[in-house]
This record gives sequence, structure tokens and C-alpha cells, in this order.
Amino acid sequence: MMKCTILGCGRYQITSNYNSTGNLITTHQIKLVLDFGRGNLHALTQLGYTVNDIDVICISHTHPDHVADLLAFFQAHFIDYKRGLTTRQLHIIGPSGIRRWFSTIASLVQEDLGYQPVLYEAPTRPIIIGDVSITTASVQHNVPALGYRISCDQKTVMYSGDTGYTDQLFKLAHNADVAILECSNAPDQTSEFHLNPQACGEIASSANVRQLVLTHYGGTERIPELQRETGKYFSGILTVAEELLSFNL
Ligand SMILES: [Zn+2]
Ligand SMILES: [Zn+2]
Repeated sequence: MMKCTILGCGRYQITSNYNSTGNLITTHQIKLVLDFGRGNLHALTQLGYTVNDIDVICISHTHPDHVADLLAFFQAHFIDYKRGLTTRQLHIIGPSGIRRWFSTIASLVQEDLGYQPVLYEAPTRPIIIGDVSITTASVQHNVPALGYRISCDQKTVMYSGDTGYTDQLFKLAHNADVAILECSNAPDQTSEFHLNPQACGEIASSANVRQLVLTHYGGTERIPELQRETGKYFSGILTVAEELLSFNL
């Protein structure tokens, strides 16, 4: 059993009704976040979890709209760990440069953790943690960035992070039950670092995805257009992400 919950689906804009991007995946054995942008910590606590429930942090890239709440996350985790309030040891997966990024964040938090989280920098092989298998691939953004494929009990969730149109997305999304794709761009807008509705629909169709979830869009006014334009290219289940929306797989 795997459950995926949207913690945020906005972009960099600071608005009262949209958290920045992040997702929570829970299985029988682990709890994992896939990016953790602004507002995600509040969403996590709204679901009844604390930072001490999280086993794995998967980071697509280190733009703040994907990692902003990790600073507060690490402070809480570091202090609780030091005080013996948790013994849970973190696994952190991220793109090239993530070790350096983590040591910078750790120095900003100014608390001695007392143990070293398990860090995986741009892994080239699947990582098995508990009952979950995590595969990554480099995607196309203006900083090092990973897309993710997460499987448990024959079910698979794929997440694009921020990316332009690249073959890696088809491999990561192949036959996925749920593909969470960023859809920053408007239908008539193309860029090498982000996707638009047509690209999202084509990738999900070609990869034979069962359910496509569009995220990282920001602004409720975009929802009808996202559904209409993406639906021209994808005939499976199409969902526009909303905070705390969840999917059981
Ligand atoms: Zn980005
Ligand atoms: Zn972003």
C-alpha cells in the first residue's frame, strides 16, 4: 500500500492560498517527502505528522520553492534527536551538490546533530529503503535536478521536479500508476527548463501513465485551462493538484 498526499502545488510566488511544491508518500514501513517547499511543514502537521515521522527526504533540486521548509525541519529534527526524543535517522537523496548543500544548511541550523544522515548524491542505482525502491534520473533545469520514480508493492509514483522536456521523463514515468508532473508554463509558452500542458499530456500518454497529476502551477485561475489543454493530449485520469489531496495506490 502506498499513499501520496500533495503538501503544496504552487511555485515561487508567495500567496496565502498556495504552498510551494512538495509531496508526502507513506507506505507500511516508511514516510518520505518528495520536495518540501514553503508551507509544507504546516501541511505535514495538518495531516497529524511531525518531522520525527519522516524517514526519507527526496530533493529534486535546491531552488527555495522546493526546499524552503527544510531549514525549520532540520532544526526541529536535530534538537529532538539530540534530546533523545527521536532515534529516527534520516536518509537524504538529491542531485549533484547535495552533500555540500546539506553541510551548509547544517551549519546554518547551528545545532550539532550528533550523527550523519545517510546522503545519496545523484545516485545511479535504485535505492532500497524499507519497502520502497527509489530510482532517480537527471532532468533538465537551470541547476542540477533529479526526477524520481518510487515503487512499493508493484505500485509506482513518478515525480518530475522542475524540468524541461527530456527523454528521462518517459523512462521515469513508464507505466506509472501516478505521475506528478510540473506544469509551470502556459499552453503557448515553451522553455527549456519547465513543462507546459501539451508536454505533460504527451509524456503521460507516451509513458502509459494511469493518472496524471499536474503540480507546480500556482493560481486557481489556471485550473480550467490546465485541464482543457492537457486533456487534448492525455485520455487517462487527469487531476490538477490541490493541497492535502491524496491518492491511494
Ligand atoms: Zn526550479
Ligand atoms: Zn520550482
